[in-house]
Amino acid sequence: MSDDSNDIPYDIGDLTLPQAIVRGVTLRCPACARGKLFRGLIQMNKRCSDCEFSFERDPGYFLGSTYINYGFTAATTTVSYVVLHFGLGYTNGQLLPGLATFCLIFPLVFFRFARSLWLSLDCYIDRVGASEAMSGTRQAESSNLNSTDRR
Ligand SMILES: [Zn+2]
Repeated sequence: MSDDSNDIPYDIGDLTLPQAIVRGVTLRCPACARGKLFRGLIQMNKRCSDCEFSFERDPGYFLGSTYINYGFTAATTTVSYVVLHFGLGYTNGQLLPGLATFCLIFPLVFFRFARSLWLSLDCYIDRVGASEAMSGTRQAESSNLNSTDRR
């Protein structure tokens, strides 16, 4: 058993909460903050282009990002309603079309940020799982190297 911890360029154990939030909001790799999470409008990269960190660890991994998306949508709608209705005196009839449209559009716009925040906050909370994702990448690379060596 070899100790390859020195080969890992970025230690996910050093990730702080502000770093995790900034990397999540800027749609960057939670491990190195350089690689981009998305290659298109909604298409995600499977790995970081800079440090090879695996973004999707398991099938359905990003299902949890819907909680973040729903939470932001509900909180923003609630705060907007309270401020506009009770603070500025708008009627429910005036607010309904705008807030209903917001509830349909905002989750689509926020989709990328919800996934990015889910990944970075998961890396901050579950450091063992994040480190395994990183070392799993390394093991996959070394097994690919071994298989090509045998040819
Ligand atoms: Zn990276």
